[in-house]
Amino acid sequence: MNIDRSKELFNRAQASIPGGVNSPVRAFKSVGGTPIFLKKAKGAYLYDADGNRYIDYINSWGPMILGHAFEPVVKAIQEIAEDSTSFGAPTELEIEMAELIKSMVPNVDLIRMVSSGTEACMSAIRLARGYTGRNKILKFEGCYHGHADSFLVKAGSGVATFNIQTVPGVTAGVANDTLTAPYNDIDAVKQQVDQHKGEIAAIIVEPVAGNMGCILPQPGFLEGLRQLCTQEGIVFIFDEVMTGFRLAKGGAQERLGIDADLVTYGKVIGAGMPVGAFGGKLEIMNHIAPLGNVYQAGTLSGNPLAMIAGFTLLTHLKNNPTVYKELEEKGTYLEKGLHNVLKASGIPYVINHLGSMISIHFSNKPVIDFASASTAKNNLFNTLFHKMLDRGIYLPPSAFESWFLSNALTYEDLDKTIEALDESLKEL
Ligand code: PMP
Repeated sequence: MNIDRSKELFNRAQASIPGGVNSPVRAFKSVGGTPIFLKKAKGAYLYDADGNRYIDYINSWGPMILGHAFEPVVKAIQEIAEDSTSFGAPTELEIEMAELIKSMVPNVDLIRMVSSGTEACMSAIRLARGYTGRNKILKFEGCYHGHADSFLVKAGSGVATFNIQTVPGVTAGVANDTLTAPYNDIDAVKQQVDQHKGEIAAIIVEPVAGNMGCILPQPGFLEGLRQLCTQEGIVFIFDEVMTGFRLAKGGAQERLGIDADLVTYGKVIGAGMPVGAFGGKLEIMNHIAPLGNVYQAGTLSGNPLAMIAGFTLLTHLKNNPTVYKELEEKGTYLEKGLHNVLKASGIPYVINHLGSMISIHFSNKPVIDFASASTAKNNLFNTLFHKMLDRGIYLPPSAFESWFLSNALTYEDLDKTIEALDESLKEL
C-alpha cells in the first residue's frame, strides 16, 4: 500500500505538533511505522491522504456506532451552524438533550454537559469528593478515565501502551489519593476499603474495560462493588465513555443490570463532536454549582453543534432498537470467524467480546485484568496490526485498546476482515 503522502505529512507534522500528533496513541509509537493521515470517512470506511481505503474498527474510539458521516447528523450540524456556533448561554436544545438521555438511561436524574470524557470523569470525582467530604478514590489497574491527574495512576490506553509507570507532573499528593486494585479482584478492593475506612469518596470503573484491550467483568465483580459502595457510603461511578449507548440503549447499566450512583459519558454524546457528560442521582447531583458549591463549568459546554449532533444520533438509536440486535449479530459473526482462523493458526490466543466491543490477545490463559493483558504476546499483536493495515483493515494501534464495531459494517466487510486475519497470521 502506498502511504507516501502520509509519510510526508508525518514529517511535516513533527516540526509543529509534539510527536506529530494531538493525542499520543495516534503516533503508532508501539506498533512502529508511519501513522496514517486520514482525509475523510463514510460509513464503515476510512480514506487516507494517499486515497487508500480501510475498514474501520476504531470508529473514533467508540462514538461512530452508525458509521462515519451519518447523513442526518451531518445535515443537522450544517443547519444549526447557520444560527451560530456557540452562545455560552442556555438553549432549548440542551433541555431536549438532557431529557432524551434521561429517557434512555437508568439512574440519571440530572445530567451536566462537558466537552470531553476526561472532563466528565474529573468532574464526577470532584462531585463525589464534595458530596462525601472524603479525599480518596479507587480505580482499577489498566482502566483509563482520561488524562486528569488523579487518573494517571496505573492507567490503561496510551499510558499502558507506552509503559509509563509514573507520570511526571502529577504530584505525589494527588497520586496518593488514588488507590488502585486489579480489575475483577473484589477481595483486593475489600482490603483497600478496610485499610482506608471512611476515606474513599468514589470507586470508578469501566463496567466493560476497553483500555487494556476489551476485558469483561467476571460474574459477581460489579455486583460486589455495588454492594460494597452501598455499605460503605462510597459513590459508585460507571465510566460509560466507551460503553454508553453502545452495549445497549441504556449502556452497561442496562446491559449488565447494575445501578451506578454517577455515570460519565463521552464522545458518543456528541456523535464524535467534542462532548462528554456526567449525571446521576439527584441527591448527589444537587451538590453541583449553581445548586451547590462543587464548582464545575465550561464556556463550550452544551455547544449547539455538539448537542444537535449527539441529539440526532441518540434519537436514531432510541427509535431503532434493531441497531443493537444487528450489532450483536455482527459481533457474534466476527468472533466466530476470528476463532476459526486463529484456531487454525495454532497460535495461543484469547478473544474477549461483548456486543460491539471485541479484542484479541495472544495468550494461553484468560485475559481478565491488566496483569494478564500485559503478559500476553503484545509484540505479536503489533506485527499483526501492520499486516492487517496493509490489507485495508484499520485496527487500534495497540493491544491495550478495544476494537469497536459500527452498524455500517456489512457481512462482506466482516468476511474481508476474517480473510485478512487468516492471511496475516500465515505470515507471522
Ligand atoms: N473514559 C474512558 C473509558 C475512555 O475510554 C476515555 C478515552 N477513550 C476517556 C474516559 C477520556 O475521554 P476523552 O479522550 O474524550 O477525554
